[in-house]
Amino acid sequence: MNDNSIYSQIKEVKKYALENKVPIMVDRGIDFMTRFIADHQIKNILEIGTAIGYSAIMMALSSPDVKITTIEREQDRYMEAVKNIKKFNLEDRITLIFNDAFDVDIEGGFDLIFLDAAKGQNIRFFEKFEKNLNESGFIITDNMDFHGLIHQEEESMSRNLRGLIRKIKEYEEFLKNNDKYDVSFLPIGDGIAVASKK
Ligand code: SAH
Ligand code: MG
Repeated sequence: MNDNSIYSQIKEVKKYALENKVPIMVDRGIDFMTRFIADHQIKNILEIGTAIGYSAIMMALSSPDVKITTIEREQDRYMEAVKNIKKFNLEDRITLIFNDAFDVDIEGGFDLIFLDAAKGQNIRFFEKFEKNLNESGFIITDNMDFHGLIHQEEESMSRNLRGLIRKIKEYEEFLKNNDKYDVSFLPIGDGIAVASKK
């Protein structure tokens, strides 16, 4: 595959996401992740929330040394991710798991855990998977701003949305009060939290 065709394949994946309302990471978020992976020489990544494989593919393409295990519970998305990962010939570096993340037990340690699944469940994801974090590893969470809604007045929101926003704020507090980690909240993309093991 030459560079040109990788570029057009990426465009295809993004187009599919847009047309099918799959919430993939925004460009600035992806740029941040790939730079972070290089800066910290990240080798192994555990991703919760594959969707159609876009972020996993972008992270894998950023360095030939990166291996990713990623979990998705929705069958259609998982199937699309299988197809996409094959297209990029990344089957040997991206391991897909089709299951609910809460029902999977993952073995081994990772340099980076990327939480990008159900936004109301982040405390539970964090607590379940931190055992899989290597010494001086990182847990990065996407969508801390939840499309900017985190800064809006609650009165204008539906009950469900309000509940979700509260959970994201609870997660933010959970991170701030977690004395095993140093945490920074970055206004990049849709809001990124980086927790590093002390
Ligand atoms: N990381 C992807 C986007 C993920 S969207 C990218 O940027 O390209 C979030 C995904 O998490 C959805 O596809 C949803 O089905 C999945 N998800 C949500 N809760 C989950 C859970 N408990 N276990 C596994 N997957 C989950
Ligand atoms: Mg996201």
